[in-house]
Amino acid sequence: MKAKTDIIVVGTGASGLFYALNIPPNKAILMVTKRAVDESDSYLAQGGICVLRDADDYDSFFEDTLKAGHYENDRASVDVMIRSSPEIIRDLIDLGVEFEKKNGQLVYTREGAHSKARILYHEDLTGAEITSKLLAAVKKRPNITIIENMAMVDLITQDNHCSGIVASDGTGAIHLYHSDYVVLATGGLGGLFDSSTNLAHLTGDAIAIALKRQIEVENISYIQIHPTTLYSQKPGRRFLISESVRGEGAVLYNRKMQRFVDELLPRDLLTKAIHQQMEQDQSDFVWLSMQDMGRELIIHRFPNIFRHCLEEGYDITSECIPVTPAQHYFMGGIKVDLDSRTSMEHLYAIGEISCNRVHGANRLASNSLLESLVFAKRAAKNTQNHYKTAEILKATLDLDDYKDLEQLKTDYKTVILDEIERSKVIARIDKA
Ligand SMILES: Cc1cc2nc3c(=O)[nH]c(=O)nc-3n(C[C@H](O)[C@H](O)[C@H](O)COP(=O)(O)OP(=O)(O)OC[C@H]3O[C@@H](n4cnc5c(N)ncnc54)[C@H](O)[C@@H]3O)c2cc1C
Repeated sequence: MKAKTDIIVVGTGASGLFYALNIPPNKAILMVTKRAVDESDSYLAQGGICVLRDADDYDSFFEDTLKAGHYENDRASVDVMIRSSPEIIRDLIDLGVEFEKKNGQLVYTREGAHSKARILYHEDLTGAEITSKLLAAVKKRPNITIIENMAMVDLITQDNHCSGIVASDGTGAIHLYHSDYVVLATGGLGGLFDSSTNLAHLTGDAIAIALKRQIEVENISYIQIHPTTLYSQKPGRRFLISESVRGEGAVLYNRKMQRFVDELLPRDLLTKAIHQQMEQDQSDFVWLSMQDMGRELIIHRFPNIFRHCLEEGYDITSECIPVTPAQHYFMGGIKVDLDSRTSMEHLYAIGEISCNRVHGANRLASNSLLESLVFAKRAAKNTQNHYKTAEILKATLDLDDYKDLEQLKTDYKTVILDEIERSKVIARIDKA
């Protein structure tokens, strides 16, 4: 490994991979990831990716995003995301991504809080389809090196300037990687919660590091709970029952098998209604029925959900399944501008770990993959346009501080959860 590389990207989800692909091949990129290269939430995305279908849909797409976000969204971010969406979909198709088609035409679906069908999908495996194609393209690039099972544990910084990362390979060995730029693409923080749809290793490490290094964060108490995950008494990740299931006609029942809510409400409102119903029913779940959609549509459209539920003992074509809310998405994060620049020089943040306030207080379904890709591409353009090489900073770090990875994980978790609580209190005071 060279003493210094041009750009370090931390994370190999959709945002990190797309950033790397949008950097010209004359720059050397090092990608590090905490687990295997395909262990990211991007692979898990089921429902789809939003796109502006035509100019007539702009106002409605904009309003749906703002309404779901309780009008706390940054309007400029929303505008950029929506206007860039057709270009991003073209990029994906050029990279070989296959979206559902009928008679040669793209098919669009609808999910909760969308007033129109504007979501492209690939079965119920849209994330795996997109991310595997991005990864295949990255692997063809000789300028990009990927190191797996390497966790960033700190940033190398001096005078509000970032020049690399400190990383642990889990054996106790600590590695210093120097670069001109660092891009944080580390995803969400569901791993901090007992019940989450996220992969357990996504623990928001970059937030703890940002707090330690005085990098600005924003809205970090804005955490989305998904209304429908498959209820299970087993520990571990919760399996998501995508919103698109309800978009295609699935309904929710209470204990008496009566419908109790509009299934297409925004996620936070539906979650609230389900929690109220569970309390009334004194139950840990409500029922979801897909039966009226018909066996053929279920198996063709939701093969992954069908298979998984069958493995758990439920045949969704003929019986209801128990569902319950679980942590799902992080709307807050490291504060960034429209080009994904953080408050620290030479440091970008993209994807779920970043916060440009595009989602406001609650994310609209299927806007996340889109946002990750749009702002990753803008970050890559900004890096190219303003590229400045940097000296290797003399890091004054005590490497012994990083040797006990388990202790570090506990410390980072405490720092983040405390900050989330603190920011909730501040939000309450501000609103009072
Ligand atoms: C079950 C599920 C279904 C979803 N469905 C949809 C959907 O249909 N449509 C939609 O738009 N969105 C959906 N989402 C949300 C969307 O998938 C994510 O928000 C998006 O993929 C995030 O991409 P990312 O690149 O920011 O992060 P991720 O894809 O999560 O990648 C994060 C990367 O960072 C690495 N990493 C983390 N910490 C470290 C560290 N300390 N050091 C090194 N590497 C690190 C991880 O190993 C991983 O490679 C879904 C999410 C889940 C969980």
